[in-house]
Amino acid sequence: MADRSLPQVAAAQQGSPPRDPSGGALPTPPLVQPSGDGPPAEEPTSASPAAGRAEPVPRRPKRSVADGLWKRCPGCQAMIFAKEAERRLGVCPQCDYHFYVSARERIAQLLDEGTFEEWYAELEPADPLEFCDKRPYIERLRAEQQRTGLRDAAVVGAAMIRARRVVFGVTDSAFIMGSMGSVVGEKLTRAIERATEERLPLIIVSGSGGGARMHEGILSLMQMAKVSAALARYDQAGGLFISVLTNPTMGGVAASFASLGDLVFAEPKALIGFAGPRTIQATIRIELPKGFQTSEFLLEHGFIDRVVRRCDLKSEIARAIDYCGK
Ligand SMILES: [Zn+2]
Repeated sequence: MADRSLPQVAAAQQGSPPRDPSGGALPTPPLVQPSGDGPPAEEPTSASPAAGRAEPVPRRPKRSVADGLWKRCPGCQAMIFAKEAERRLGVCPQCDYHFYVSARERIAQLLDEGTFEEWYAELEPADPLEFCDKRPYIERLRAEQQRTGLRDAAVVGAAMIRARRVVFGVTDSAFIMGSMGSVVGEKLTRAIERATEERLPLIIVSGSGGGARMHEGILSLMQMAKVSAALARYDQAGGLFISVLTNPTMGGVAASFASLGDLVFAEPKALIGFAGPRTIQATIRIELPKGFQTSEFLLEHGFIDRVVRRCDLKSEIARAIDYCGK
C-alpha cells in the first residue's frame, strides 16, 4: 500500500519544479538528467553519465519532457502544462483535480507571505526499535529526508491568514506517507498546547495516507491519544480548531486529530477514511457504496462540514475564524 502511492507523489513532485527557463522548443532535453534524487533510486543505469550519449533511447527524452513541462492529470488523463497547474495552486484547469502539494507549497499557498515562523524544526525521529522491514528504518528516514527536504512529515508554526494570527500545522504525504510517528505527534501536540496558551485559532492541514507509523510501534500509536488529549484541553479552553483534510487522509491520522476539528473542511475528491476499501470489503463482506471514502460522500453523510476548493481555502478559513469570533 505504501509503495503504490509513493511513486505518484514522487512524480508530482518532479513535475512541480519547472526545469524550463523559457517557453522554448519541446525536445532536446539533456539526455543525462541531474541524478540528484536520492541515492536509493531504482536506476543504477543512470549512474554512468558518460554512457548516456552513446545510446539514444527514444523513450527517454520523451519522458523527461513530460516530467518537466507537462504532467498527466489523474482526474481527466489530459496532459496539463505544469506551469499552468502551478498557477492554479496545483489544480487541473480542465477537471479541477487537486494535485498533491508539498508542505512548503501549502504554506506558500495558504499563509500570508513571509509570516510563517516555524516551530520545533529541530525535532528529528529516532529509531528506538531498530526497526527493519525492506530496509532499516533509519536508512529509510535519511533517504526520505534527503528526498523531501523535511526532517519528518509534519511542519508546524505560527503565521497569519489574511492578517489573522493562527497556529498552523501541515502533514506531507511525501514523507513516509505522512504517517504519524513520534515526531509528528510531538510537533502537533506542542503546537496545540501553544495555541491553547496563546489563545490562537488552530489550523491543521492533513495529507497523511499512512496513519500511524508502524516503524515506531507503540511510540507511534500513542501519538493518537496524545494529540487527541491536547485537542480536548484546547477545546475546553475555548479554542477554534479548523481541520483541513486533503488527499489522502487515512488511518490513525483520520482517526485522531484530523476528525476532531470544530470545523472539518476537505478538498474536493480527497480520499478520506480509516482502512482502505479492500480491507473493509474483505472484513465485512458487503458491497461498499461507490465513492464512499471521498470528500463529497462524507459531506453528504455529515462526517465533514464543507468541501472547499483549494483556491477558496484561505478565504474560507479566514471567514470561519471571523464567524466564530476568534
Ligand atoms: Zn484533469
